[in-house]
Amino acid sequence: MNDISPEPKFIADHMLGSLSRWLRMLGYDCRYEKEFSDEEILKVSQDENRVILTRDRELAARGDSLFIDSTALDEQLIAVTKDYRLRFHPENMRCSLCNGRLIEIEPEQVPAEIPQRSKENATSFWKCEGCKKIYWDGTHWHGILQRFKRLKLAEDDQ
Ligand SMILES: [Zn+2]
Repeated sequence: MNDISPEPKFIADHMLGSLSRWLRMLGYDCRYEKEFSDEEILKVSQDENRVILTRDRELAARGDSLFIDSTALDEQLIAVTKDYRLRFHPENMRCSLCNGRLIEIEPEQVPAEIPQRSKENATSFWKCEGCKKIYWDGTHWHGILQRFKRLKLAEDDQ
C-alpha cells in the first residue's frame, strides 16, 4: 500500500484503545491489538519502526516508547501530541476501528444502507480501505473535530 501517513507511526498497548482510535482520526498510523504480548509489541515496534505507547513502565523502558501516565483521554492525547508535535491531518484520517486509510468518495458512491438524512446533510464522505466502513461529516464527526480544536490540535477554521 502506498503509505503517505505523517510520521511517526505508533503501536499502543492494550490499555490504550481509546487513545489509538483518536490518533487514527487525527491522521496517524497506530496499531492496536488487544491480545499482543509485550514481546509482540516490541517486535512490531522494531519491524515496522513504530513508537510504543504504553502505560507500563517496564515495557516503556525496553524500546522506543512514550510512557503514558494518565488514564484520562484528553491528557493522554496532549502527552502524545506534544511530545511528537502532532497535528490534525484531515487528508490522512484513518479508520478508528481498523487503522485503514480513509479515502474520500463521491456522494453517489455512498452505499444504500447509509441513512438518507445523513446523505443529505453531509458534505464529505470517506470509505475505509480496510474494513470498508463509511464515514461522513455528521454530528459525530463534528464532535471529534471539536475535541481536536479544544486541545489545539486543529485550527478554529478547520
Ligand atoms: Zn476500517
